[in-house]
Amino acid sequence: MKVYKFGGTSVKDASGVRNLKKVLQTIGYNDTVLVISAMGKMTNAFERLVAAHLLNDKEGIEEAIQYKEIEGFHLNMIKTLFDNGDHPIFEKVEDLFDDLNGFLFDNNSSDYDYVYDQIVSYAELLSTKICSAYLSENGIKNKWLDIRKCIKTDDHFRQANVDWKLTSRLLKRKIKSSALTITQGFIAGDNYGKTTTLGREGSDYSAAIIAYCLEAEDVTVFKDVAGVLNGDPREFKNTVLLHQISYKEAVELAFFGASVIHPKTLQPLQKKKIPLRVKSFVNPLEKGTLVVNGVDIEPKIPCFILKKDQILISISDKDFHFIMEDDISEIFDYLHQYSLKVNLIQNSAISFTVCVEDIFNNFNDLVKDLNDRYKVLYNKNLTLYTIRHFTDETIKKIEKGKKVFIKQLSRETAQIVVQN
Ligand code: ASP
Ligand code: MG
Repeated sequence: MKVYKFGGTSVKDASGVRNLKKVLQTIGYNDTVLVISAMGKMTNAFERLVAAHLLNDKEGIEEAIQYKEIEGFHLNMIKTLFDNGDHPIFEKVEDLFDDLNGFLFDNNSSDYDYVYDQIVSYAELLSTKICSAYLSENGIKNKWLDIRKCIKTDDHFRQANVDWKLTSRLLKRKIKSSALTITQGFIAGDNYGKTTTLGREGSDYSAAIIAYCLEAEDVTVFKDVAGVLNGDPREFKNTVLLHQISYKEAVELAFFGASVIHPKTLQPLQKKKIPLRVKSFVNPLEKGTLVVNGVDIEPKIPCFILKKDQILISISDKDFHFIMEDDISEIFDYLHQYSLKVNLIQNSAISFTVCVEDIFNNFNDLVKDLNDRYKVLYNKNLTLYTIRHFTDETIKKIEKGKKVFIKQLSRETAQIVVQN
């Protein structure tokens, strides 16, 4: 059994869906589970619908606008893909919108995370229904599977935790055939029939869960790039394709912020030594990148990762005392309490410096609290560069023309905080 995953970019328009068919015909689809994400940027559109729904504006105008945009996108998609206006997909899509409408009408809950999962999940339901119907119509027989009935989680909405035992049992029961199964990424279900989700960009993780439970031969993630490159081509020039990396190297790259592989994906695969391939949906016959047990990285070249919007905070005692373990522990409690993500740490006798990301906009509150006991200095809008397998030249190249605030080197990793 093989698992393929196609992300939102690969099915962002009708020609993407047509290309999906071509890819399957080119590489084969026997005994395969195909995981498909929401189309294009639909998850973001559904997030706006959630916000509008919870806004509770009297006329529901906001909600109606968002709803229309989403409905319009999908109707347009099926009108383009299916010549025959009587095709059953028109009714199926309508049914899904009726269900969604029903939820919007009946829902009284203001629990953001719960409401989010119930609404946003329609993006993957619509996407997989449409792709499944299109493939059937064009000679690729397949079975559509509601993954919420197989991947079972707790009710930690938007960040649900998988019940591996139950999920394994259910997946084995539901996916048996040597045929092609089409299912959703990102979404799952709790034991009370409610929809849950696994965290943004979680479809790679879904593919890994399915592969782990069914002991798949391998997982292939199809991307709009040739594979895992040694830097994000949107940020770095002359990037090079990595042919092979180890699970460990992939975890390191994901940890430092390389977004090509979702960090949670690797652990289940590594546990059962299931190879992961990352390849292009434009050139599916090219090898792409293989993530497997073995050499760290091939070719052995420096890899570059960039994180923007960093804040560097220096914290020192008001009376010039040493910063001791109890101070550091207290500082970390605050960082945790305000959900700041720590990307780099450095301490000296009288000051403690951290490079953080303020994803939830809590920075000002943190500074207020810290100011009670400490002297706090900070710089905003910095960039953190991480270079795995660095050389002197690569460090010089990154530093050129920039103001360097902190530089830290370990055996394989250089991290540099700069102002551009
Ligand atoms: N559709 C979801 C998202 O955009 C999951 C995924 O694409 O992996 O976050
Ligand atoms: Mg996506």
